[in-house]
Amino acid sequence: MTPVTTFANKTVALFGLGGSGLATALALQAGGAHVVACDDNPAKMAEAATKGIETGDLRQADWSRFSALVLSPGVPLTHPEPHWSAKLAKIAGIEIIGDIELFCRARAKIAPTAPFIAITGTNGKSTTTALIAHILREAGHDVQMGGNIGTAILSLEPPADSRIHVIECSSFQIDLAPSLAPTIGVLLNISPDHLDRHGTMEEYAAIKERLVMKADLVVIGIDDKWSRSIAEICLANEANVVRISSEPMGKPGIFADGGTLVRVTSSDATAVADLAGIGSLRGSHNAQNAAAAVAVAKALSVSEEEIRSGLHTFPGLPHRMEELGRIRATLFINDSKATNADSTEKALKSFDNILWILGGKAKEGGIAPLKPYFPKIRKAYLIGAAAHEFAGTLGDEVPHVHSGTLDNAVEQAAQDAAAMNEASVVLLSPACASYDQFANYEVRGNRFRDLVRALPGITLTTGA
Ligand code: ADP
Repeated sequence: MTPVTTFANKTVALFGLGGSGLATALALQAGGAHVVACDDNPAKMAEAATKGIETGDLRQADWSRFSALVLSPGVPLTHPEPHWSAKLAKIAGIEIIGDIELFCRARAKIAPTAPFIAITGTNGKSTTTALIAHILREAGHDVQMGGNIGTAILSLEPPADSRIHVIECSSFQIDLAPSLAPTIGVLLNISPDHLDRHGTMEEYAAIKERLVMKADLVVIGIDDKWSRSIAEICLANEANVVRISSEPMGKPGIFADGGTLVRVTSSDATAVADLAGIGSLRGSHNAQNAAAAVAVAKALSVSEEEIRSGLHTFPGLPHRMEELGRIRATLFINDSKATNADSTEKALKSFDNILWILGGKAKEGGIAPLKPYFPKIRKAYLIGAAAHEFAGTLGDEVPHVHSGTLDNAVEQAAQDAAAMNEASVVLLSPACASYDQFANYEVRGNRFRDLVRALPGITLTTGA
């Protein structure tokens, strides 16, 4: 745990008692603060009380006692409208901050030069965070990884000069962290997302921008116009910037040329690593993630040999184009995290001869944007509520079957694959939310993994 002493002997209101809220309350208490914690869910209040956290109804509280409101990132700060606790904090004239901000203040106090890598972007945050942490660990560094992935930031070991914090930051977390000033700020990409919570694209991009604005080194993707314009601002401010791209660029930085990562300086261009054959980093989107990780590792003086070795041994994250195993020339891929057409596009781009399992609770627009990839699909297996709609989009172009359940789909796809005379890929990439049939995408992906594991003749990929 990282105790937060900056509120010692002060009283702090805290709203939102999910995993990070509990961790934050404990870290504040450990640092000598008096916390009054609250949640709309009485079960969460009860859980907090069992952990020794003082709970109270903040609606009825005397807000003049509080020095700050610590808000969970899941709670609306501004849109669609401020949460009642944020309104009360504004009336009381106190600051509203989150756990990343508390970490930044603790770091400034106890180890201001401790390496702190913050990663954001609309897509690829978790993969890039895990990849950076993996490369650094394999190179022998003491790494603490968390934030929006895995462990809450204040549950990690405290910052220290010999320890590297690798922290995934969502836009909600950045919004609650005004003094965020990492050693290295990584901004991968920006595309429309969460606009219900941020208002406009401009506001959303402005929040992402804050992660890099005060970074000692900025690693930034230039493949979309929003990130590109932030890169221009950083360069105009004479910040230390490494540009990254998933395609060749005529500027210094790190880009992917096919599967090769190339590092360009003002004087030369050298191939740093080859991603071909790395099952956990398939596709040009992962080339962007890998380019960012290489830029960070280089900046921390990890040798190119260690970087290449770290890329090769990266196990990947579950449910994101996760390779599960093979039966002869058929590969089984779990991409359950793909809950919309945009994500599924990445998978369809990355494979050929696809036996595609899809469906669930459809998102607006369905799978129409995926039509350019239909020639790659040998057959589709439709599950869940969207089956009828998707069958209409697939039409006569893609042979398809109404499998109904994931269990049926896996059985049918495995049988069809066995009858094919060419290499194929059985791909679960649903392009849908899962909650018509599963609790969440993880439960759906885990079920798929179990079904694949049970197939006769399967050779499992290491770690799957
Ligand atoms: P996040 O943590 O930002 O949600 P993940 O690393 O968990 O991102 O990846 C989620 C999905 O986003 C992946 O399954 C893939 O479809 C897509 N994705 C991953 N990296 C990128 C990227 N660099 N650019 C665009 N899409 C990506």
